[in-house]
Amino acid sequence: MNRSKWDRRIERADGLAAAHPFAAEVLQFYKRMTIFQQSLYSHGVEACGNESGKRISRLFPQDLNVHLLLARFTEFLSTVETCGPQPIAQSARDLNTQGTERWQDLLSSFWRTASDFEISPERSEVLLAWIFLQPQAEYVADHDGHISRHENLAVCPFCSGKPIVGVLRPEGDGAKRSLICSMCATEWAYGRIICPACGEEAVEKLAIYTASPFDHVRVEACDTCRRYIKTVDLTKDGHAVPVVDELATMPLNLWAQEHGYVKLQANLLGI
Ligand SMILES: [Zn+2]
Ligand SMILES: [Zn+2]
Repeated sequence: MNRSKWDRRIERADGLAAAHPFAAEVLQFYKRMTIFQQSLYSHGVEACGNESGKRISRLFPQDLNVHLLLARFTEFLSTVETCGPQPIAQSARDLNTQGTERWQDLLSSFWRTASDFEISPERSEVLLAWIFLQPQAEYVADHDGHISRHENLAVCPFCSGKPIVGVLRPEGDGAKRSLICSMCATEWAYGRIICPACGEEAVEKLAIYTASPFDHVRVEACDTCRRYIKTVDLTKDGHAVPVVDELATMPLNLWAQEHGYVKLQANLLGI
């Protein structure tokens, strides 16, 4: 089951690229990254297992065998060099010349502080470390049977990562909201009318914006902290794959930027 979710992401990227040519280049990059991540995920047990081969402990993010991953990192960087947008491709090119000691420092320090990571235009290396290590975190989370998903937390109940996208799933006659972790992809329940960045609950402070042709994706912005997150409404489009639809709907990001809102967590374009 866990492996097929990667296939669903890839298929959705193909479908959205065909329907929305303006997003095709971005989605092609996403697809290449997802294929790479899928192969890393399938080796997650190697990188995250301890020496006896037992499954990782729940004490994420301490357990990561960076040495086992370094062999794949140069291949990853070369892939980004050829298919990534600037300046991400340039950053991969620069990093690829710096050697294993530098890569080890980058990946180890990112993994130690993964739940707090912030992506900014000047920090493409952090973006690369995130794309590369995200499948490891997802693997760890998928193999933990004790994640509490119903505590209405603003950050991931497993790894404390920030949400990258919200989801509305059908429930009864309406919909319930959940959030998806940017680091380990855990999905957890969250109230519908509350800002995940600052906890604001006053309806008049929480703006919602949608625009054709993406009626199933909405910007949820907060006038108190000026942060926003996009939420994908599966009651309107049951075929949507939230993390992919979030990426494909960049015109909504522009609207948010123009209105002075800052995204709660960047996607793999650093946006
Ligand atoms: Zn998480
Ligand atoms: Zn807020």
